[in-house]
Amino acid sequence: MKLITFTHRGSTRIGVLVGDEVVDLQAAAPALPTEMVALLAAGEPALETARAALAATDPRLSLADVHLESPILRPPKILAVGLNYADHVAESGLDTPKHPMIFNKQSTSAHPPYDPFHLPRASAALDYEGELAVVIGKRCRHVPRERAHEVVAGYTICNDVSVRDWQLRVPTFTMGKSFDTHCPLGPALVTADEIPDPHSLELHTWVNGEPRQSSNTKHLIFDCFTLIEHLSTAFTLEPGDVISTGTPGGVGIAQKPPALLKAGDVVKIAIDGLGEIENSVIDEPASTVQIG
Ligand code: ZN
Repeated sequence: MKLITFTHRGSTRIGVLVGDEVVDLQAAAPALPTEMVALLAAGEPALETARAALAATDPRLSLADVHLESPILRPPKILAVGLNYADHVAESGLDTPKHPMIFNKQSTSAHPPYDPFHLPRASAALDYEGELAVVIGKRCRHVPRERAHEVVAGYTICNDVSVRDWQLRVPTFTMGKSFDTHCPLGPALVTADEIPDPHSLELHTWVNGEPRQSSNTKHLIFDCFTLIEHLSTAFTLEPGDVISTGTPGGVGIAQKPPALLKAGDVVKIAIDGLGEIENSVIDEPASTVQIG
């Protein structure tokens, strides 16, 4: 299933994408939660109810009539991994990490799959990172690698948008990776049953139609299941947590000469089986100032 969060006539809720139509789960399965984290937390019986609702031909909405939101509006955690593809390690001029280089993006950076993201007022060093993201489906801790697939709800595309000067001027990445709008996700949370092998997916990124990243998730240094084992050694993973698995070579700052993003640029990321997300870049609007 391609689970989505969408807004229609001012109401935000969850549904299932079927071609260019949306099965509105609030209408088709009124007993289900209307928010993604709650749906995932309700477990396999809730997903079975959602699957059964797909048989209903009515009511369906046209995809063109809804606004897609981040599939998980506010993930409990957004975890990400640095230097997890050999070609990206090489272009960064660094050594291959012995342990996964984990950092957080703040939950408030989650952003819809087709909305513009911000060129911040505070920096011009804006960059993209096309990535496969894992979405956790079960509360879990100390998950061995061979059982990690049991806690995966599904997969989605992440643009790990990065503000390079803020990322690299201090030892931790948190600030440079967490500007508002800097975690476009989607277009859907594709359930794990549709992605039999998450480690054989082609991943491509374009900027203004020009190919920038072209790789395959088989090149991940620490794969999805190893990351789950590693993270859950330290802390509980919860339904709706997002783990973005790292970006392959071809980021903007590594182009020769560097090709950072500017207002008006359009970044598209596609991954096999997950569809594509496409976001333009706009100057951070004056309306982001919010005090009291
Ligand atoms: Zn990244």
